[in-house]
Amino acid sequence: MRSKIVAGNWKMNKNLVETEVLLAELSAKLPDTKAEVMVAPTFVNLTAAVDKLKSSAIEVIAQNMHFAENGAYTGEISASMLLGIGVNTVIIGHSERRAYFGETDEILAKKVVAALAKNMRVMFCFGEELEDRKSGNHFKVVESQLKNALFSLDASAWSKIILAYEPVWAIGTGETASPEQAQEMHAFIRKTITNAYDAVIANNVSILYGGSVKPNNAVEIFSKPDVDGGLIGGASLVADDFIAIIKAIA
Ligand code: 13P
Repeated sequence: MRSKIVAGNWKMNKNLVETEVLLAELSAKLPDTKAEVMVAPTFVNLTAAVDKLKSSAIEVIAQNMHFAENGAYTGEISASMLLGIGVNTVIIGHSERRAYFGETDEILAKKVVAALAKNMRVMFCFGEELEDRKSGNHFKVVESQLKNALFSLDASAWSKIILAYEPVWAIGTGETASPEQAQEMHAFIRKTITNAYDAVIANNVSILYGGSVKPNNAVEIFSKPDVDGGLIGGASLVADDFIAIIKAIA
């Protein structure tokens, strides 16, 4: 059965001291939950975060990685560097990476393959832009993002994949997809995976929703049958808000 997951993507926020303060608060207040809880601090604070959370159930994950094993890629981070400090899960394909850093489906496909080759778990992000939704192309866009980056993988790779549907128009805007819109898309994603692979793989993959999830809308969004949790931006930077969102998992 697929797991419930609540993950905080801290993006380019929190210096070392702020990271340690937030992690201390989160560990102290972490409720009993059946959800896997993850946080993704910035690269330079990953080691400190892993250390700080040694005896906590919270997993530290990375926001990005490069596809090459090593070499002349100034400023980049490889899978084995992440593994070497105890980070076993990586976010790939966030819309901000796509929009501001030129990450295409082709690049993302290479990153996914590189992470899986090292046995890392991949949290793969995707989602349509406002124009796509307005023109009714959102299903087509999502299908092609999945196909281009993931559907060449062997069926066995899917046990290491977590999906995060994040409609770009809902990220950081305060405008969340309605629970019905989220459910409709998540069901479509499962159907698309069933067609490409089979129903077992589709039913076993966790599909998170991301985009303006807050304490006041999390319960309703997470109550939808195909929504397995959330990838949280802004609200994951405030301990009490993130904890409230974790508690929203039934
Ligand atoms: P917000 O929760 O701030 O909208 O961000 C969502 C997100 O991009 C998580 O990766």
